[in-house]
Amino acid sequence: RKPIVAIDGPAGAGKSTVARQVAQVLDLLYLDTGAMYRALTWLVLQSGLAVDDEPSIAELVSQCEIELSGQPTLMEKQATSISVSINGQDVTQEIRSLEVTSNVSAIAAQPIVRKELVRQQRRYGKNGGIVIDGRDIGTYVFPDAELKLFLTASVQERARRRQQDLKNQGKDEISLDELEQSIYDRDLKDSTRALAPLRQAEDAIEIQTDNLSIVEVVDWIVRLYRE
Ligand code: C5P
Repeated sequence: RKPIVAIDGPAGAGKSTVARQVAQVLDLLYLDTGAMYRALTWLVLQSGLAVDDEPSIAELVSQCEIELSGQPTLMEKQATSISVSINGQDVTQEIRSLEVTSNVSAIAAQPIVRKELVRQQRRYGKNGGIVIDGRDIGTYVFPDAELKLFLTASVQERARRRQQDLKNQGKDEISLDELEQSIYDRDLKDSTRALAPLRQAEDAIEIQTDNLSIVEVVDWIVRLYRE
């Protein structure tokens, strides 16, 4: 198979923006695994299920079809994300809501959910030639990926970027304290779950992005890929 680029890291480190642009520059496919957990979370909430109702969620995940469309190579440079739909319904906007964001880690921690979504991710990436971002790509989904990156930034910097994003989108402002708390909570849940927690793979290259622009991070990864 062709190479796989795995980009992992904590919440808000810029993984998906960077991964999308790397895929665009290198003409690779792009898979946003967080969008899959988010789409399922949206469906769980929409169905009126409790986030800890594991048996019902297990049934839901076994029947759901998640589709990601609009590969970066086909998109305008400024496009902000791929389109995501679940069971035929477009949820591209909805999966970025506060409600989905604050519930996704509880659902992503459930072994049956991970088992099914990881199966879909492995199938999607089996021929390689793809950039995949998430929390467990280099450690669990594709431990044999040719290039593994671990993107980090301080919680303060990640909250600041998130606040700027919300501002740019004309959304309600949230205080830095609140944003820091929500990022901190999500990282804690993601790194302490039993199955495939958020972790840096031993052979991953850490990129500390506090003082780097998106372009600088993208260039760095593109250079590593071409070496
Ligand atoms: O990357 P993003 O912030 O969209 O991910 C949303 C959530 O999905 C994460 O906080 C985590 O709970 C879950 N996730 C995961 N494994 C992945 C990608 C995301 O558990 N590979």
